[in-house]
Amino acid sequence: MEHHEGMQTHVERLVEVMLQDLRAKASPEFAEILETIPVRVLWESPEHDRYGDFFGVPLDMGNGGEAVASDIIIYAGPLLAHSNGDDQELHRMTHKTLMHEIGHYLGLDHAELEKRGWN
Ligand SMILES: [Zn+2]
Repeated sequence: MEHHEGMQTHVERLVEVMLQDLRAKASPEFAEILETIPVRVLWESPEHDRYGDFFGVPLDMGNGGEAVASDIIIYAGPLLAHSNGDDQELHRMTHKTLMHEIGHYLGLDHAELEKRGWN
């Protein structure tokens, strides 16, 4: 997969705008949680078809809401490869991936994510 610096920056900006939008709409408590989420955009996934990953310990809301060495990673390359140059589709896929990984961070499993359409 060819690395396009500009396209990675494009996905980084998409993610940043989505996070800002989420924070703007969130309750003060959730906005604070969103502030602590470490989100990074990398180009390539170690497993080729992944759009995102969550590493670490999900947030335990009952435990002071402290994030312990957790990390959300969005993979720009696979998202771009599968959106076929359609920016709206790229936007939709990136949003879904971001919500999926945020869901993991909040401690949701795949069944719960699917109910929310974040599968
Ligand atoms: Zn997952």
